[in-house]
Amino acid sequence: MLTREQLLEAISSLQRVGVVLYFQCPYPSGTRPMHATNEDLAACALGELHLASKLTGLSPDEFASWVEKDGFVQCSATTREGHRCMKIVAHSRLDDPRAWKALADTKPYCPTHGG
Ligand SMILES: [Zn+2]
Repeated sequence: MLTREQLLEAISSLQRVGVVLYFQCPYPSGTRPMHATNEDLAACALGELHLASKLTGLSPDEFASWVEKDGFVQCSATTREGHRCMKIVAHSRLDDPRAWKALADTKPYCPTHGG
């Protein structure tokens, strides 16, 4: 494994010859290229940073839910069995992670649970 300094030097060496590095960030229904700082790329390579989380402004758990639910917000209700409802909130598909978080933070419900 390379050290942080070796990684940063390798990234800088590539950039000096014209290579542009992007993080291919998972998104609902695909991926999007996102720019990251050299320091963040090195920290990601070292396993010290959840880069997708940092770039989207979501926690790692929020990020996983956003991508797994294809951009939909999951119902916040608890079922009679004590589990979180797996249904989605109506009209909640959002490709913008910050808009998705703003809606998810309101703890909305699916139509079955009054949403
Ligand atoms: Zn529900």
